[in-house]
Amino acid sequence: MSNMTELILPYDVETVRADFPILHEPHHDNVPLIYLDNAASSQKPLKVIEALDNYYRRYNANVHRGIHKLSEEATEAYESARIKIRKFINAGSKREIIYTKGTTEGINLVAQTWARANLQNGDVIVSTVMEHHSNIVPWQMLAMEKGVTVRYVPLLDDGTLDMEAYRKLLSEEHVKLVAVAHMSNVLGTIHPIAEMARLAHEHGALILVDGAQSVPHMPVDVQALDVDFFTFSGHKMLGPTGIGILYGRRDLLEEMPPWMGGGDMISRVTLEGSTWAELPHKFEAGTPNIAQAIGLGYAVDYLTELGMDKIHEHEKIMIEYALERLSEVPGVTVYGPEGVHKGAVAAFTVAGIHAHDVAQILDMEGIAVRAGHHCAMPLHNELHVNATARASFYLYNTPAEVDALIEGLYKAQKAFKI
Ligand code: PLP
Repeated sequence: MSNMTELILPYDVETVRADFPILHEPHHDNVPLIYLDNAASSQKPLKVIEALDNYYRRYNANVHRGIHKLSEEATEAYESARIKIRKFINAGSKREIIYTKGTTEGINLVAQTWARANLQNGDVIVSTVMEHHSNIVPWQMLAMEKGVTVRYVPLLDDGTLDMEAYRKLLSEEHVKLVAVAHMSNVLGTIHPIAEMARLAHEHGALILVDGAQSVPHMPVDVQALDVDFFTFSGHKMLGPTGIGILYGRRDLLEEMPPWMGGGDMISRVTLEGSTWAELPHKFEAGTPNIAQAIGLGYAVDYLTELGMDKIHEHEKIMIEYALERLSEVPGVTVYGPEGVHKGAVAAFTVAGIHAHDVAQILDMEGIAVRAGHHCAMPLHNELHVNATARASFYLYNTPAEVDALIEGLYKAQKAFKI
């Protein structure tokens, strides 16, 4: 693949782009927006924006409380979104779908409930050096409190996980939990989760998967992967901010104590004590993010209608093209696996220009990329770089936008006289 005109995309991207109002807004006065910061957060289709508007205009009310029509309508929309999400990731029951604020909250929920109740001094949690801080810090906090140890699977030179080291950790340590991302938000590495889950289970450990970067971009089946917990964020998959999902195996969720206490998560309260509501409400204290959950349901509709296989295929073509074009630019180093399939994320450095300057010059061209450590400081330490620029693609990006990125990098080099 060397020429943009040879690329055959699985759907008409212009039709998709027409659904995203922000892509047609003037940016920096006149330049069109080229949004390549999708790993941080995605843009929203009109359907999702309208779903929020519609809720607030037409049936805004609290859920699970009122007997009045508005509350019933809101509850129906809120709960039907849960059913859509169950189907989207093929969970066995809607009771296994817990609404959270996002991936971070899902991980903290498991740390503060299952892990706090089940782990003790001497137990080991296995994570990896590639994790987002949200899959490191909650375990470190728990480790300080409970005397458990967090061990990290290292990287191989090719940007994949050292599976030998993983096997060794499982066989030599008292591992109770494996906490791993499905896909790295920096390198794009996609981990062999089904295999990692099988190995964890063989050694009596559970596995929690951070699916923040996988669910938006590829078909995910939590039962086929045989994972125990799986968590992701709505805002990275066309949905609103403030909503995410924790999937948990029903038997585990039934056994786990609740995390936050308050309204809606109880069955009965007396002054002497309380009993808990049925799943999933046991883990959903207080008024939830109703509009956001409904919006996420619409985002799932959008993704399902376009087809997760097609979206994944589109992104595969995009990342291959982006990697090829980036390799043409002298002084550019891209981090992550080569020659194996990876997610549509390219983290790179440009020799002689700090990543923040690269991002700033690109921004002047209307190109939004992220620069910094991308909430993965330990990984950047392993890579021996302070910061990278990151271009991350989604279903509405085009090969022409990759070309614009490359042009932007040449401009940056020119500005820095490189
Ligand atoms: N995990 C990964 C791999 C991520 O990329 C992110 C966000 O960038 C998160 C976790 C945290 O997601 P959130 O901030 O939506 O909770």
